[in-house]
Amino acid sequence: MPEASQLSCPPRAGVMLVICAPSGAGKTTLIRRLREEFPCFGYSVSCTTRAPRPQEVDGEDYHFISEETFCARRAAGFFAECATVHGHFYGTPREPVRAMLAQGRDMLFDIDVQGAAQLRLSLVGGAYVFLFPPSMRELERRLRARGTEDAASIRRRLEGAEREMREAHWFDAWIVNEDLDRAYDELRAAFLAATLDPRRRPSLATSIVEGWEPHAGTDCRS
Ligand code: 5GP
Repeated sequence: MPEASQLSCPPRAGVMLVICAPSGAGKTTLIRRLREEFPCFGYSVSCTTRAPRPQEVDGEDYHFISEETFCARRAAGFFAECATVHGHFYGTPREPVRAMLAQGRDMLFDIDVQGAAQLRLSLVGGAYVFLFPPSMRELERRLRARGTEDAASIRRRLEGAEREMREAHWFDAWIVNEDLDRAYDELRAAFLAATLDPRRRPSLATSIVEGWEPHAGTDCRS
């Protein structure tokens, strides 16, 4: 048997944490908090054909591209998944995802339900979280309070929300965002539970039996 000091803790496979929510459910705020607490999360920067909003930075929030470029990339198999959301195209570039997962990094995806369903078929090992608003009435109130959408857009988003929530039965975790702190605690619990899944570190039991010593550096919290 090798010396315990020669062995290291077997690496864990990265968690693909996919978070879906209707617009107005609070997803952006919760994702920001999660990335602050776990800065080593790889983040998938999507391509989109919608125009940038004020404050949004090309290459950080999204890669903002034309419809023509999007269609050419889609035809070339550039995207791991793609979907039309609120009349615009969105897609996850395949290569950065493959590279980060190959390094064993945890990754965060902020995509819609159609895209999440495609990812689940094409990439194994995701943890899928769906975030609900407490009620349709509260969702409508939040969308109006944002003041960024006109009445037609709010109506479209509410219809989309209803559709997404009806399709959310296959997710691994459901979180209701009534109280932001509580929703955040539940989201980080869902992530941490996924990191503990034995399927992400199948050789752990054997290596403990054969003797490795725990060492620092397996926790990526700030
Ligand atoms: P927004 O335009 O408000 O940033 O995003 C609108 C919706 O598109 C959100 O639900 C967001 O999660 C989703 N979305 C963003 N990027 C992608 C992507 O790459 N693929 C898919 N399927 N949906 C995305």
